[in-house]
This record gives sequence, structure tokens and C-alpha cells, in this order.
Amino acid sequence: MYQSFLIKYGEIGVKGKNRFIFENMLMSQITHALKPVDGEFEVRKEQGRIYVQAVSEYDYEETVEALKRVFGIVGFCPVIQVEDEGFDKLSEDVIRYLDQAYSDKHFTFKVNARRARKNYPLDSMEINAALGERILEAFPEVSVNVHEPKVVVSVEIRSQINIYFEEIQGPGGMPVGSNGKAMLLLSGGIDSPVAGYMIAKRGVSLEATYFHAPPYTSERAKQKVVDLASIVARYSGPINLNVVNFTDIQLYIYEQCPHEELTIIMRRYMMKIAEHFAEQSKCLGLITGESIGQVASQTMQSLAATNEACSMPVYRPLIGFDKQEIVEVSEKIGTYETSIQPFEDCCTIFVAKHPVTKPSLSVIKKSETKLAEKIDELVREAIETAEVIKVEA
Ligand code: ATP
Ligand code: MG
Repeated sequence: MYQSFLIKYGEIGVKGKNRFIFENMLMSQITHALKPVDGEFEVRKEQGRIYVQAVSEYDYEETVEALKRVFGIVGFCPVIQVEDEGFDKLSEDVIRYLDQAYSDKHFTFKVNARRARKNYPLDSMEINAALGERILEAFPEVSVNVHEPKVVVSVEIRSQINIYFEEIQGPGGMPVGSNGKAMLLLSGGIDSPVAGYMIAKRGVSLEATYFHAPPYTSERAKQKVVDLASIVARYSGPINLNVVNFTDIQLYIYEQCPHEELTIIMRRYMMKIAEHFAEQSKCLGLITGESIGQVASQTMQSLAATNEACSMPVYRPLIGFDKQEIVEVSEKIGTYETSIQPFEDCCTIFVAKHPVTKPSLSVIKKSETKLAEKIDELVREAIETAEVIKVEA
């Protein structure tokens, strides 16, 4: 019944003369998101609005799901298009489609007409009144409520006539690609995929780095991270994932440094290596899934010690979130079920029984001097042997 979708975008509509750049990015993100969907579509801009026009038979559910994942879309309306064959025919059409869309007629409504083509014989106010009356005649159970209607019967008079009733919520945010690129430290946990999602939502494209420690971590643990990246990529677009073999570095830290400082030192090297890949691929920042106080390595002191290891800005979108709030987002975006699969990630294997919770940076740096002999070589090797996987949705 619906031949096209009207795309509503909020925030990107207010960017002054940059507006068209944002609109074009949104259109290209929509085109990309619809590629795997069954059907042919044309994405076009018309009088300051974006329409997705189906030009073949298409799968409605798949289309809706795809559009729900395009950042920058605030909402979208499935649109019925009819030819202008006079007001009587228009009323009949509206009534027939309302009948199909709402089997239960106990709802309030208002008509919201827009006459974009000025030679139509009725103006918008007249259409509102006349069409409202016809709808009331057709369905005795409905009533008008102009302030808080349940259904807004929208009619746009253009060369064709667009009719729509429903607005489906989009994810909001800004089109990916409109705000540069950042490097996500992606583990197999619940938090980091959510962190990546949240930064991508602001228009940032993603790359990712995962540290694994074979044979302490399994091939399945790595596959889990690839799977998570692929779910995040439904929203962010393709992600280049650097898989770094971290085993020798971890073992070396384990040999040389106090065990209670292991996690912090290890995390500092993760940041350094991720920063290297970030610079190489022109990322403007790092992203982690840290949240204040969640674990010993995320106290204010620990975060300060970790942060000091690199000079790029580190974005921590979950910093003020409770675990339950993070879980809710992960369920919403579809990463939760994968995140909770029970495969060790590298940190859990080398964790000390009593890690420091208030590390002092000077103490940590002193411990790190014990790594002087081999660490540069090990870091270089880890970087050189990293595997790059191009992950798509
Ligand atoms: P997550 O659920 O994201 O794994 P976490 O609660 O397990 O987080 P930590 O293990 O302290 O917390 O990790 C904090 C952050 O460091 C993660 O959110 C992630 O960004 C990064 N990180 C941790 N382990 C790895 C890893 N093996 N590879 C890449 N990044 C990692
Ligand atoms: Mg983790």
C-alpha cells in the first residue's frame, strides 16, 4: 500500500549553508542502508524534503528496519501516493486507506493538509475541514482532536498527492561521515559496542581495535568481537577491525611488573597501540566503553592513569551510565545477546586478585621502567603482525 517514505530529520535541518552537505550525506547513508533490502529504491530531495521512493516491489518490514538504523533520521512516514482525480476521489482514497490501516476506529484524529501546488481548488484550511467531515461521516466511532490527536491524517498536494498517517521513530543523531572518524577499542564485553554505537550516532565513522591473547583467548572469542563489530556496522557502516596479538606484551608485563598493577599497565599499552592505528587511519580520537567506578580499572585514578598513556582525545560516552542503562542500550541495538556469550577476553585471564584501585601515575611509570629492555620491540611486533578485517553488517 505504501509507495514511498517521507524522511524527517531534525538536527541536520538547522545547519545553515552546510545543510545541503548534511542532507546529501543522509541520502547516501539511506542508499547504503537500503542496499541489502529486497527492492529497488530511489532516494530524492524535493522541496527541502527527502523521500525514499520504491521503484519496484519491495519488502516493507525490511525497509522499515533498515531506515530505523540510519542516524540522522528522526522519524519517517510510510506514504501512499495517489493521482489528483478531484477531491471526491481523494476523500474516498483517504477513507479506504484509513480503514485498512486502523481496524479499530476508536481513535481521535485531525487532518493536516499542505497545498504545495497552489492551483489546487481548495486551500489547506478548506481541505482540513472538508476531509475531516467526510471522515467523520464514514466512521461514526472516530472523533476530532486538534490538540492531541492519535492519528494525524496528512495530505500533501503536489503534482501527485501524498497521504500518510503514521510516523515511525528513527534513531536520531547525525548522518555517519558528517563528523570524522574515531578508533573504538572494541572488546567482547557489553560496554564497548554500545560506546561505538553512541559515537557513531553523532555522525562519526568507526574503526576498531581488538586485543587478543592466543592461546589464552580462543578463536571463538575473536569471532565474537567480529560479530559485535558487524552488528555495530549496521548503524555505523563498514568497520576496519585491527586484531592485535597482545600475548607477548601481556606475558612480559606479567613477568616484570607488580601483579596488582597489571591491568592498568596493560590498558596503557592498549591505548598506545590503538592510538598508533588511529593516527595511521586519520582518526580524530579514541573511544572506550569505560564508566566511572564500574571496576578497579575505571576509578577516577585509574582512568587518569590510562588516559595519560596517549595524547589523542579519548571519548567515553558511557562515563556516567550505570550498568543497567548500558544493558538497555545494548538490548535495543541488538548487541547484548552476543556480548554475553561466555568467551574470555584477554583482560579476564591476567587479572590480579587485588588490583590497585587508586594507582599513582608515578608509581605506575616507575614499574613501566622495568619493561625498558623489550617493550618497544614487542609493541612494534604487535603492530606489524596485526590482522585487519573489514567488517560489514
Ligand atoms: P567492555 O564491556 O566494553 O569489555 P569492561 O566493563 O569489560 O568493558 P574493561 O575490561 O575495563 O571494562 O575495559 C574498558 C574498556 O577498554 C572497554 O570498554 C574497551 O573499550 C577497552 N578494552 C578492554 N579490553 C579490550 C580488548 N581486549 N580489546 C580492545 N579493547 C578493550
Ligand atoms: Mg571487557
